[in-house]
Amino acid sequence: MFDKILIANRGEIALRVVRAAREMGIATVAVHSTADADAMHVRMADESVCIGPPSSTSSYLSVPAIMSACEITGAQAIHPGYGFLSENAQFVQVVEDHGITFIGPTAEHIRIMGDKITAKDTMKALGVPCVPGSDGGVASLDEAKRLGEEMGYPVIIKATAGGGGRGMKVAASAGEMEKAFMTARAEGKAAFGNDEVYIEKYLQKPRHIEIQVFGDGKGKAVHLAERDCSLQRRHQKVFEEAPGPAISAEERAKIGKICADAVAKINYIGAGTIEFLYEDGEFYFIEMNTRLQVEHPVTEGIFGVDLVREQIRVAAGLPMSFTQDDLQINGHAIEVRINAEKLPDFRPCPGRITQYHAPGGLGVRMDSALYDGYSIPPYYDSLIGKLIVHGRDRTEALARLDRALGELIVDGVDTTLPLFHALLQEKDIHTGDYNIHWLEKWLARNLENDPV
Ligand code: ADP
Repeated sequence: MFDKILIANRGEIALRVVRAAREMGIATVAVHSTADADAMHVRMADESVCIGPPSSTSSYLSVPAIMSACEITGAQAIHPGYGFLSENAQFVQVVEDHGITFIGPTAEHIRIMGDKITAKDTMKALGVPCVPGSDGGVASLDEAKRLGEEMGYPVIIKATAGGGGRGMKVAASAGEMEKAFMTARAEGKAAFGNDEVYIEKYLQKPRHIEIQVFGDGKGKAVHLAERDCSLQRRHQKVFEEAPGPAISAEERAKIGKICADAVAKINYIGAGTIEFLYEDGEFYFIEMNTRLQVEHPVTEGIFGVDLVREQIRVAAGLPMSFTQDDLQINGHAIEVRINAEKLPDFRPCPGRITQYHAPGGLGVRMDSALYDGYSIPPYYDSLIGKLIVHGRDRTEALARLDRALGELIVDGVDTTLPLFHALLQEKDIHTGDYNIHWLEKWLARNLENDPV
């Protein structure tokens, strides 16, 4: 096992990794920009190294700065968290070339899954069901129009290098194709330096269902059921739960096995998420994330396992500590993402926290790097905390969420907390009757007239 690991991230996820490492008796190194000198992850880690100015390109995304921090401190492995360098194959290559262990999949697997066309081709070959669409890239507008006619509108045009909801455009009819095609290409080029696009059938009312998988890198893999992350705003998840309220035990076992077998076949190592759209009883693969997800705690909640501990174990060459049979679902878990954003337009709202009080009690987990007097810097993502609740069933989890939200105090900045108070008043949230468009429609109906 490692003696010391470096965490190439910040905020709640850096803290999350420190916690797992400490329980394993592993020392931690935090890295930080000058804007984060007073951050909680820096305070909680055993050592810290300043790696540059506030801009993430010169700090959290600077490979030389992070490798130097590793060298200076003698860390033997790097945990990338999510975002930043977590899905950067080149970074993983550099880490490995320096004889340091990357706590995550191989550069090769990250490369395959990072390109959406290659990912889809690979998954198809491994027997994973995919959204009907073009065979690979679509080079011209004429071809796009021909495919649109063939498949039937609406269709979605996606940048093959896209991510975070960028580089995707819907064409509802032939008349909208030119604009959608050109915009998706331009966005792909501008944001990811790659203008290749492909086309998929646009599903009208799917749920976003993702399967958590975990591999040992030696041909063994398991699945840890699904998360339903259908409540999204601008393709960004805001509320996640496990298990999915619309998924039956039979469906779970079937799709779970398909996913576990697929990643076992490619000797996948560590945590991964295979994302699907789910409509009328069918699963359609959209992408695979080769890292820990923001919403991983809901899975930890229902299985009682520590996914970060497990990532560190397999990276150190140890076997997984559970088998598929060990993984039995216990109850229901829900996570809400708390952002420093002002409603109704979700404008980022950095600033100083004048009072912070975290909720507690049975089945409540608060993953946050906030503290009284902390100043949220304006340079990074606006996620400031995740409230996760666990109950014996979905009804209990929702009641617990309501109770915990009532205890949580974040003063000094605007947050998305009022959104969750309002959502808990909605019947559809209680019945679990929602799809990926539900939240956008609700926001359009509610926030414009009556800002929460
Ligand atoms: P990103 O990598 O940018 O997150 P994804 O391919 O994972 O992109 O898609 C993000 C979201 O976009 C999905 O959760 C879903 O809401 C929507 N989406 C993607 N593909 C389709 C599709 N074929 N039909 C309908 N919605 C889609």
